[in-house]
Amino acid sequence: MAGSLTVCATPIGNLDDISARALEVLRGADLIAAEDTRHTLGLLNHYGIRVPMISCHKDNEEFRSDELIAKMREGVRIVYVSDAGTPAISDPGEILVRKCHEEGIPVTAVPGACAFVTALSMSGMPSRRFIFEGFLPVAAKERNALLESLQREERTVIFYEAPHRLRKTLSILLEKLGDRKLAIGRELTKVHEEMELTTLAAASAEYEQREPRGEYVLILGGADPEAVRKKQDGRWEQMTMQEHMDLYADLPPKEAMKKVAADRGIARKNVYEALLKEKESRQ
Ligand code: SAM
Repeated sequence: MAGSLTVCATPIGNLDDISARALEVLRGADLIAAEDTRHTLGLLNHYGIRVPMISCHKDNEEFRSDELIAKMREGVRIVYVSDAGTPAISDPGEILVRKCHEEGIPVTAVPGACAFVTALSMSGMPSRRFIFEGFLPVAAKERNALLESLQREERTVIFYEAPHRLRKTLSILLEKLGDRKLAIGRELTKVHEEMELTTLAAASAEYEQREPRGEYVLILGGADPEAVRKKQDGRWEQMTMQEHMDLYADLPPKEAMKKVAADRGIARKNVYEALLKEKESRQ
């Protein structure tokens, strides 16, 4: 019988947040590969599950994946879990899954808790279009480049943050992106769960006084489209036609094209032709 990989989500705090299917899959596994076997043992003990475990974390995922694939080729059914939430979401798992696909090993997933989805769903922040950035890069150069690209980002932006970096992150976000709406999800699904609807400036001031504790999800409002357009005013030639159109993503395409044509003082037909040309050159 062919082996397989099942990527299995686990709770992000409340141990009851595990599905009947997840428990069945964990119980039925030949081997559980875990980001931290000691951590996962707590979950398995809680549910009386006894299955052999092997570690697979960010520092050994590359070679451990090859070992796990060899086992799956021999018919072993492996379940992968990270410490909390959904594997491969700011967690190991991506390399193992990709290698399985490359090697033709069947991959399936048992969905479950994920901190940013939990936070977004209870925040009331615009959720039709959003981007998930995970942890802000620690290296200043990489972080600045990312934040620059987010200055014109109109979608909701979601970050993960650890308590010891929260103050710094809030002040950097405020400095680089200006004040914006912010929802802070803390210790979700746990006893001290909090969802605070605030702003970057207010949260920055608040956390100067308050000691950050627990795990955080930051949900940041997108840039105001009008402010973004004003900032770009008169510097259209530095943008591609598509980037210029994207500034009006909140309008129907025909209206957006009209606005772009008016900004540049050209006919709508020229905007259309330039967009086509750019599209062709990208293909
Ligand atoms: N794979 C996980 C998921 O599906 O959400 C994320 C793992 S990542 C290493 C850990 C980060 O997720 C924490 O630093 C925090 O930002 C966020 N997080 C995890 N559990 C959380 C919780 N209960 N409440 C708030 N944030 C949480």
